[in-house]
Amino acid sequence: MAREVGHFIGGEHVPGRSGRTSDIYQPMTGEVIGRLALASRAEMRAAIENAAKAQVTWAATNPQRRARVMMRFLDLVAREMDSLADLLAREHGKTIPDAKGDIQRGVEVVEFACGIPHLQKGEYTEGAGPGIDIYSMRQPLGVVAGITPFNFPAMIPMWKFAPAIACGNAFILKPSERDPGVPMRLAELMIEAGLPAGILNVVNGDKEAVDAILDDDIIQAVGFVGSSDIAQYVYARATATGKRAQCFGGAKNHMIIMPDADMDQAVDALMGAGFGSAGERCMAVSVAVPVGEKTADALMSKLIPRVESLKIGPSTDPSADYGPLVTKAALERVRNYVEIGVNEGAKLAVDGRAFKMQGYENGFYMGGCLFDHVTPEMRIYKEEIFGPVLSVVRAKDYAEALRLPNEHEYGNGVAIFTRDGDAARDFAAKVQVGMVGINVPIPVPLAYYTFGGWKRSGFGDLNQHGPDAVRFYTKTKTVTQRWPSGVKEGAQFSMPVMQ
Ligand code: NAD
Repeated sequence: MAREVGHFIGGEHVPGRSGRTSDIYQPMTGEVIGRLALASRAEMRAAIENAAKAQVTWAATNPQRRARVMMRFLDLVAREMDSLADLLAREHGKTIPDAKGDIQRGVEVVEFACGIPHLQKGEYTEGAGPGIDIYSMRQPLGVVAGITPFNFPAMIPMWKFAPAIACGNAFILKPSERDPGVPMRLAELMIEAGLPAGILNVVNGDKEAVDAILDDDIIQAVGFVGSSDIAQYVYARATATGKRAQCFGGAKNHMIIMPDADMDQAVDALMGAGFGSAGERCMAVSVAVPVGEKTADALMSKLIPRVESLKIGPSTDPSADYGPLVTKAALERVRNYVEIGVNEGAKLAVDGRAFKMQGYENGFYMGGCLFDHVTPEMRIYKEEIFGPVLSVVRAKDYAEALRLPNEHEYGNGVAIFTRDGDAARDFAAKVQVGMVGINVPIPVPLAYYTFGGWKRSGFGDLNQHGPDAVRFYTKTKTVTQRWPSGVKEGAQFSMPVMQ
């Protein structure tokens, strides 16, 4: 029986009242396992107003106490790791070990947020002038919101709500409609950890709920992660009403393989980064760029048998390399891209479209696909496919290889595989991409650095997590003070300056 999923508002589960719902699928079997309530504007507004009331007391709670809630939450997530990973895998389709990685990379940002008493400290200058001291404070914004994608239903909600809440804000999370189970469970665990009701709310919905957030006059900041067209739309609409916004979008991540690279290491890296999570990662490598024909031929001869022997399985099979795609629509979309690539003249070296998972015939599975001789004019190169499809673009030299990511409209992640320190250093300096790996295929920075892409992969000024998150979720107030015993100057009519 499909379960009904409503919202989590004011510390409790609330059924939806809009009358609109969407189905939640279990990708490994293709079954509908739940029905999700889609919030109306009025339901969203009520949740935001409730959060605003709760936020006043939370902002006045000392930062150590706020940090302790995060610490207790970490214990609870560790306690629930297996059940969270199982729920995540069932709704998303990724394998259980991969689901644990999704949770763990979110947990690391919660660990970072435990340092909020230190991170949120202001600055102080004693004696900036005669009897004058200056200090700054980082104050929370109020009520802020996060709108998150399907592909990391644990990690990205935690990236958003943990720093925001630690800074003293109340949070409205609008997770993806595809896999809302884990975000709802995380909100329950935050309450169990001691978070006051109303500080973390999960309001489920679609465009109507998102637009209600973007137009709301209480919401002060919006953090978005998803596809680029929606990221750009959210950025424009949120900032039009004076909100802070950071909106992260899609990607086409290149991996350059130099002639001197360790080929076995490069092939292992491409397999994991290209096909892990069925390619449904914003940091997945979707373009391999071997430099020189000899490198390309050597790469293809090693890649083809590896892609042909990928082990695809249900999410509950711990030995599977990857599981099904998230929905039937996603599967059809990816298959369609393969068809486009064939029609554009790319050479389909491995065709995984016909793959069927025995015993799971209605699941959304797809075999690995490998294209050779892809060129920059092709749609399969320009557009994000978001599936288990790797394209090989042959570059004649390093300069051409560097030009490819630099001229691409996306700029999320990139990697170079080489033993040459000079080439690696030059690449890191010149490449127009936000996150760079040197012999590292998925360079997702750790929690205490920031994460963010360039060009159409990121709209806004500050990155997610790390020190930027504290800047994004606080506003700085600077106080200049002088006490009556300070120097008395009489009325000053010219602009005050320090002598
Ligand atoms: P999506 O853009 O379809 O959805 C993201 C969020 O936007 C969801 O909460 C969804 O409900 C909402 N949304 C969808 N359509 C909307 C509309 N018309 N108006 C307002 N809101 C709308 O993305 P997705 O398919 O869930 O996630 C995959 C995408 O996310 C990929 O493009 C991937 O590269 C990207 N992504 C980027 C990063 C990053 O940090 N750059 C991380 C993860 C995923």
